[in-house]
Amino acid sequence: MSIAKTFRGGIHPVGHKELSSNKAITVMTPPVEVIIPLQQHVGAPCKPLVKKGDIVNKGQKIGDTDAFVSAPIHASVSGVVKAIEPCWHPTGARVEGIVIENDGEERLDPSIHPQNDLDQLDAQAIRAIIREAGIVGLGGATFPTHVKVTPPSDKRIDTLIINGCECEPYLTCDHRLMVEHPERIIYGTRVLLKALGISKAVIGIELNKPDAIAAMEKAAASYPGIEVVPLKIKYPQGAEKQLITALTGKEVPVGGLPMDIGIVVNNVGTAAAIQAAVQWGMPLIERVVTVSGEGVSEPHNFLVRIGTRLSELIEAAGGFRGTPKQVIMGGPLTGVAQFDLSVPVTKCTSGILAFNHLRTARQPEPCIRCGRCVDVCPAFLLPVTIVRYADGGKLDAAVEWGLLNCMECGSCSYVCPANRFLVQSIKLAKQEVQAQRSKKTS
Ligand code: SF4
Ligand code: SF4
Repeated sequence: MSIAKTFRGGIHPVGHKELSSNKAITVMTPPVEVIIPLQQHVGAPCKPLVKKGDIVNKGQKIGDTDAFVSAPIHASVSGVVKAIEPCWHPTGARVEGIVIENDGEERLDPSIHPQNDLDQLDAQAIRAIIREAGIVGLGGATFPTHVKVTPPSDKRIDTLIINGCECEPYLTCDHRLMVEHPERIIYGTRVLLKALGISKAVIGIELNKPDAIAAMEKAAASYPGIEVVPLKIKYPQGAEKQLITALTGKEVPVGGLPMDIGIVVNNVGTAAAIQAAVQWGMPLIERVVTVSGEGVSEPHNFLVRIGTRLSELIEAAGGFRGTPKQVIMGGPLTGVAQFDLSVPVTKCTSGILAFNHLRTARQPEPCIRCGRCVDVCPAFLLPVTIVRYADGGKLDAAVEWGLLNCMECGSCSYVCPANRFLVQSIKLAKQEVQAQRSKKTS
């Protein structure tokens, strides 16, 4: 038996996947009200296409922009537009949102109809469907998918990678999707291959999901160009560059993009959303969200409408177990702590985790120069050196040592025996550098 592939560096945090990995996806009852932020993607925010008092249909496009790097948004329920007002986004940003009161009729928008047979669609038609459906990277990056499948003419793409790693602890939404709907992911993979005009796809899945590997291998069996590759269990294998190295042995150049080496990466959830857009005509109005952590009574994987409040997911999972000290949107290593549970589920919400202890409660101590942060850094940086410069206000030196190449995976902080706030310092320094640069150019 061959040795499973992986990348260099990384860490092995306890997975805690058992809390929800065997919980089948539960369809959550649509809420009485949804809040749909106009910015749920990388790129330009949408402008509203509706106004207060308008009646909207489920799946109706309610926000869009002419910008290429953007993605429209859609009503996830039928009902009446109650307000268009600033709302909190789970990333902590304050953005405009459209509040819709659900009339419970589930009235489908007339624009929704199954698209043509895949054989009838050319690459341009597929890109248009993906864009109109508002599909973005559902692994958390939320980069508009139609942009990814429209590479510049000087980039020659030969491989599509489908990311089924889900390497962050606790999260199991992608796992369940692969176990329960492998044929949807394979269909979406075929759509992506056609959009890119290539025939080779590799689906990377970590070995802690044997049932997902088996289901995906079975679904892919009839398509010789699609290969399922089991990977060692390691964080952050789901990060684009690390996944590419693990599967192909190739390195994306520093500061470059996967398409510079002929590769496009998409998440399994994105592939399933593409299937829904093409075969069912449905835009992206719902997603699978894991609700887990020791502070949740009954961990679940929910299929939930975009715009549902986080508090309603917690309630549907039986409420809190004990008194939570921390609620996080996303995984425990890269997620964002939430201070208000009335914020809505957006396209980037892979999980809601509740903990009865603070993950960052330990006091930092002086660095003992053990080098562990250097050993695990998957970007081959010297976190201890970068942080020394960043904390000392020497941002130019920190940049020289690769500050901006840090992907904020948190592996360095995780292993540091002195509890140093390494990734936190790096994040702050990156923000400071970016602020200084935009000041100079404005
Ligand atoms: S320096 Fe950045 S990329 Fe390297 S381990 Fe720390 S957070 Fe991850
Ligand atoms: S892991 Fe922590 S203690 Fe060890 S070298 Fe890095 S910063 Fe210093």
